[in-house]
Parts: sequence; C-alpha cells; structure tokens
Amino acid sequence: MSLGIVDTDECVFNCGDKKIYAHLFFACPYSSYIWSSVLNLCSIYRHPLPWLEEIQRMVEHSKGKQLPHRLRKVAFGTAIYHIWLERNRRCFQNSYPPPQEIIRKIQGDVWAKLAGFVERRNRSERDHSLCINWGINTD
Ligand SMILES: [Zn+2]
Repeated sequence: MSLGIVDTDECVFNCGDKKIYAHLFFACPYSSYIWSSVLNLCSIYRHPLPWLEEIQRMVEHSKGKQLPHRLRKVAFGTAIYHIWLERNRRCFQNSYPPPQEIIRKIQGDVWAKLAGFVERRNRSERDHSLCINWGINTD
C-alpha cells in the first residue's frame, strides 16, 4: 500500500479485517475454512491456531518419514502456497473462486506429490484411511 501497488489494507477475502500475515494464515474465515478442511483430510480435527503456533505445531508433528508425517508437511506447504496464490489472484486478477475450489487444488497437488510414495502393500488402517481422504491409490 505504501508503494501504491494496492489501494487498500483490507483483507482480499472481503472479511472486513486488516491484511496482515497472521490474519491471512489462518485467522481469516476464508483461509481458516480451507486450513480446517485440509486438517480434516489429514485426520486432524481441531481449529486452526494463530499463525506462529500453527507453524510450531506442524513442525513438531511432521517429523518422521511415515505417511501421516509426510502428509502433514506436504499439505501444510501446499495449503500456504495455494492461499498465497489466491491472495495474489484477488489482488491482481479480479478472480473469486470459492474456498472449495482451492481445497480441490490443494488435494490434487498433495495427491500428485504423494501418490508415488504410498505403497499399497503393508498399508496400516490409519494410512489406508488417509489415502481414502486424499484419493491416493484407493483401489
Ligand atoms: Zn480476511
């Protein structure tokens, strides 16, 4: 705004709040809805935390090479990437897709990144239900 590139400091998702990182990730109802849905796809059922706490929590719970850990890492990075892309699209292209469309894009990217990693044999029940959530090798 101080450079004159954008003319308002209001959230691009039209919630009426101010545009700051802590709001964008994930205090804004738009991004909060997306992140809650992604958490649910990871079989994590809780509300999004304030930005720095969310980073801390995801770092602590993403250590390891098992599917749930890899999934959390990839899903977190992919969600941030797509919310940021969507924020830029709204700033510069006047495009307003619903959050479900962003969730589908996140799901597609996570599937593409992890589909090759997941083995069909010796899959635990927990891993199997995660695969069903994300549409990974479910046959
Ligand atoms: Zn907002």
